[in-house]
Amino acid sequence: MTDIFDKIISGEIPSYKVYEDDDVLAFLDLSQATPGHTLVIPKKHVQDIYSYDDDLSAKVLSKLPVIARAVKASNPKIIGINILSNNGAAAGQSVPHSHWHIIPRYQDDGLDLPGAVDHSDEYSPSKYEAVAKSIREQF
Ligand code: 5GP
Repeated sequence: MTDIFDKIISGEIPSYKVYEDDDVLAFLDLSQATPGHTLVIPKKHVQDIYSYDDDLSAKVLSKLPVIARAVKASNPKIIGINILSNNGAAAGQSVPHSHWHIIPRYQDDGLDLPGAVDHSDEYSPSKYEAVAKSIREQF
């Protein structure tokens, strides 16, 4: 299946590239949630994180700090960076080719990302343990 990011990799669709090697391409996200918002994608077509093997993980994930450092160094006003990957439509994935958002943060940028929700008052030690066990059992 060919998706829009495959077309960016092949050059059929233009992009503002910031980094490229044999395995990885990084380019500006059109939406620019904040200035410098960059997408990092594997050139190999994989739909989501569940499809990464160890080799692809090493090739792609090792580049996240490298590219994040370059993004941060590009603008002294960047005071933080969020790195996130949406996997599945329910998580907000709109392009079926795995990608990692590198989103620079600025003073008072008003960006509202998930993560600030606290449900700890609904959890007992046994409930935490049951959830942790259900995940541990999958390895
Ligand atoms: P998702 O919502 O799947 O996590 O992220 C997909 C991202 O791809 C969105 O932030 C969207 O702005 C970006 N995007 C979609 N189409 C294009 C395109 O043709 N070029 C670029 N550079 N970004 C795109």
